[in-house]
Amino acid sequence: MAYEVHDACGVFGVWGVPDAALMAYWGIFSLQHRGQESAGIATWVPGTGGAGRIEVHKGMGLVSEVLSPEQEAARPGSVAIGHVRYSTQGSSSLANAQPLVMDSRYGQLALAHNGNLVNAAALRAELARAGAVFQGDSDSELLAHLVARSGHAGLEDALKAALARLEGGFAFVVLSDAGLFGARDPAGLRPLVLGQLPDGQWVLASESCALDIGGARLVREVEPGELVRIGPQGLDSDRFAPPVPAAACSFEYIYFARADSRLGDRSAYVYRRELGRMLAREAPAEADVVVGVPDSSLPQAMGYAQELGLDYDLGLVKNRYIARTFIAPSQSERESGVQLKVSAVPEVVAGKRVVLVDDSLVRGTTSRFIVQLLRQAGAREVHMRIASPPYRHPCHYGIDTSRDQELLAARLPLEAVREAVGADSLAYLSLEGLTTVLGGAGFCTACFGGRYPVPVPGRSGVPAAGVVH
Ligand code: SF4
Repeated sequence: MAYEVHDACGVFGVWGVPDAALMAYWGIFSLQHRGQESAGIATWVPGTGGAGRIEVHKGMGLVSEVLSPEQEAARPGSVAIGHVRYSTQGSSSLANAQPLVMDSRYGQLALAHNGNLVNAAALRAELARAGAVFQGDSDSELLAHLVARSGHAGLEDALKAALARLEGGFAFVVLSDAGLFGARDPAGLRPLVLGQLPDGQWVLASESCALDIGGARLVREVEPGELVRIGPQGLDSDRFAPPVPAAACSFEYIYFARADSRLGDRSAYVYRRELGRMLAREAPAEADVVVGVPDSSLPQAMGYAQELGLDYDLGLVKNRYIARTFIAPSQSERESGVQLKVSAVPEVVAGKRVVLVDDSLVRGTTSRFIVQLLRQAGAREVHMRIASPPYRHPCHYGIDTSRDQELLAARLPLEAVREAVGADSLAYLSLEGLTTVLGGAGFCTACFGGRYPVPVPGRSGVPAAGVVH
């Protein structure tokens, strides 16, 4: 269930524009779906005689609550990075809000990070033994400490050495007087793209939707294991790690990326519609109408209906004006958030056999609530179809899906899950169906199949769990 899964963060960076902070504002505004706990923007403010300093605005809440376009438009500086955060590792506190600003032998640095390091505990212990003092408990600070202690003469070499020590899923943007840097983990688990403005300035962002708003065009993805440096010289590229088999997060395609973001050569929307079509071929249902869980599952529902020639309709509507309470980290806050957010339309579902399509099913509590909503609105039957495989294994690479025991499909067989959500029938997309739609190998599917592409301490070697269908 999409309302039960949250991405870790969104990052943005721009170099060489007069209104850099304002562009970063609109960039992270476009990435708001990736994190709603905190938001921040750091700019490089030039000083006299070549000196300068980093200035950061950040706070807890949505971008529009923490920052204002008027205030960001008034900030000096032609380089900026921005960040929105949903906490996975590290507690929800201002100390963990990003960008983080650190003094180092290379001058001031500002860092913003998306993802989760699987070797964070080991690195933190090593750094603490060496005397590091941490401002917060997020993984993001580790990179700054590793850079500060690298011993290299220049920042770029220090960054490469530090990045090479990190294991897991990560995308970083780093601001310094030496330029704007962007890096992506060697397996490409977390996304990072490069865009270019009409006048040639470079932009970095977690998703292409954050480029569009500033008028930048998508040039390419930052390659897994690549460090890009953007400055007066233009764009330089180097590697900080040798190539490994690619493992892009399949959940970006299923849910995280905004529907209009480009993933490879297609928008996320097109992939989702295809997932719905594949689901229909694998698990057709005799029904009168197909309804998607708004908004994230509407393309899948459309594809499902198109494939089977069934009616597609908006049997569930979303209240757009409720604050995003469902993103609150506790289970009870999540449940009350969904109740406020979704309602059923009796005219669409009353007396009908309804196929309810959702992008995923994780904890199942919100699925149960939505099935009940449809029944209360008069649905005669509710057949639940999930446009991704059973979610049985927690993500260790930057997605908040909690512990194994909270994952419904990890605890219960298919029939028991159906009973728990109260549907008349339940079927998932197969893992094979998912990988076929995505185009084959090169994707992480660990939360479905249990094969972790980057070894996770204590979990490595977990065998694939097969597919329930
Ligand atoms: S485990 Fe799942 S959510 Fe995490 S990176 Fe892999 S595919 Fe994405």
